[in-house]
Amino acid sequence: MNNQTHRFKVGSFHCIAVSDGAFRYAPPMFPPPPVLLFANAPRTTLAQTLRRHDLQPDQWTEWVSPYICLVIDTGEHRVLVDTGEDGLGPDTGKLLPNLKSAGIEPNDIDIVILTHGHPDHIAGNTDIEGKLVFRKARYVMWKDEWDFWNSEQATLKLEEHIREILLACARKNLPPIQHQLCLVDREIEIVPGIQAISAPGHTPGHMALAISSGGEQLLCVSDAVLHPIHLERPEWCAVVDLDPRQVETTRRKLLTRAATENALVLAFHFPFPGLGHVVPRAERWHWQPIEI
Ligand SMILES: [Zn+2]
Repeated sequence: MNNQTHRFKVGSFHCIAVSDGAFRYAPPMFPPPPVLLFANAPRTTLAQTLRRHDLQPDQWTEWVSPYICLVIDTGEHRVLVDTGEDGLGPDTGKLLPNLKSAGIEPNDIDIVILTHGHPDHIAGNTDIEGKLVFRKARYVMWKDEWDFWNSEQATLKLEEHIREILLACARKNLPPIQHQLCLVDREIEIVPGIQAISAPGHTPGHMALAISSGGEQLLCVSDAVLHPIHLERPEWCAVVDLDPRQVETTRRKLLTRAATENALVLAFHFPFPGLGHVVPRAERWHWQPIEI
């Protein structure tokens, strides 16, 4: 184990959690972490909850968030989930070197699944010149997500400068995949053992994945939760969550499933390698990271 790649198995599937690096979310570009991550939380309850997690509400001034992509080798397909960020900060855009160190070249990937259209999940689609990085892959995205970023609706209710970053990234990284694109609008199996799960809220066509083999299951929840506290408070939403009510519904659906089916869970923004279990507690849940 190192802190860039983490190999594990789901049944007979060989998986690797691959770090794309980490990004510091801090003012002035972003609100302070308590506001960014828990925008609608009552102040007093939030302060108490943060302290329980050893976070001082007034001193927590930056959220250093990992970006964790996933490779699944099913034996038949080599699948990459999300392509990471490129150029948002000095410590992101590490996916390609980390794949290489794991012995994987871009042309080895034959399916790229994009969980949603935010920069940290799609900006690795293209290189600096705008050319496709995973040239031989078929790209998979939820139809509502593709339609959202390619329509006027993508005038998001975010501050102007964040909105511009998001839209510029989508304009650079989505058109080049259109001739290799497969849109899904139902919870189908993308390839045998990898099922799409509708998980809207964070964005309109946000997609989770159920990866199953040999009686074992990995739930890849992407950005349905951004911080472990979201398991304890599924009703607390982030500034970047587009539809808070839908986010809560999606979270409850995924967390209930993860807990009842005792699935391993991968959360894109959790501490590396982002893997753990969802444990029920007092009608809610808490995060139990795997031991490494
Ligand atoms: Zn994200």
